[in-house]
Amino acid sequence: MLVQSHEKPQVATAAEENEGSPSAQREEQAEEEEEEEQNEEVHVTETEPQGQADEGERIPIIVEQMHNEDEEAEQMQQGGDSSDEEGDQVPGEWTEQGFGNPIVQDGRCPEWEYRENEVVQGSKYPTIDAVKEAVKLWSLSLRKEFRVVKCSSSTYEVKCVKDDCPWRVHAFRGRWKTHWQCSIVTEHTCYLEGVEKSHRNLTSAFIANEMYGLIVDNLAYEPKMIIKHIERTFKYTISYDKAWRAKQKVFEMRFGTYEASYDNLPRMLCKIVERNPGSHFDVRHFPSLIGGPSVLQRVFFCLGACVRAFQYCLPLLCIDGTFLIGKYKG
Ligand SMILES: [Zn+2]
Repeated sequence: MLVQSHEKPQVATAAEENEGSPSAQREEQAEEEEEEEQNEEVHVTETEPQGQADEGERIPIIVEQMHNEDEEAEQMQQGGDSSDEEGDQVPGEWTEQGFGNPIVQDGRCPEWEYRENEVVQGSKYPTIDAVKEAVKLWSLSLRKEFRVVKCSSSTYEVKCVKDDCPWRVHAFRGRWKTHWQCSIVTEHTCYLEGVEKSHRNLTSAFIANEMYGLIVDNLAYEPKMIIKHIERTFKYTISYDKAWRAKQKVFEMRFGTYEASYDNLPRMLCKIVERNPGSHFDVRHFPSLIGGPSVLQRVFFCLGACVRAFQYCLPLLCIDGTFLIGKYKG
């Protein structure tokens, strides 16, 4: 092509001299170019690559490199190590039939849940509630039920509901220790008899723990929404009553019980009167008919500042109007 740039003007000049017609010039030029390409094939041997298609096949260095690459590919197909891996061994399964079709794990398979929630021997927990929570989560992901054998201040033991299954988790709190430790964990040998819709260990207290954040964020969270959430998370359906009780438990965890609130009320009012001189309060309640705590009827309460300010209030007569409604509007 370098040769072409020098020769072209000469050819064009010659064509102008001989023929003069533009179409004849183009034909002539095309013929000349064809000849030049043929000449190039013969003469040009060490030219640099110009980026044209298939030109590499005419350059010895590139041809040699292609040949080498072909040889390497053949070696790899035969299962041998390629020279550019510098000692890294290709795992055997890579060359096995079917490699390249890995099974996609969607993260919801029981195997994954098993590993995620598994209670293992020797695992430690800060409180007994944490042990209970962990055992429940594990059982729910295994879709197996358990019953509590022993629950005391230092021991917690559960076993599978199936009598012939040796599954057992035993946790204890050491004498001078603050944490709980699982000392015995035995595997299930029982089989699932079917997909149950409910789980006996899915208690309202467990659901309250699960739902705490959501309900405290949104106090209007309805029991129906709790049922949906539990269905999505654990694949079990709970009753409306259980969802409602779970919501009440969350309220108790966050705000205390109603009984405790009523019990605190007179004490709180006493303290307000003490800090605000001139204040007054009065609490009326019904005595309990069955001998338990009395029932609050009503409370009157007035701040001292309001009592003092009331003396300076002037009598004021207010007249207000309203519209007639019904048949005679006006
Ligand atoms: Zn079992």
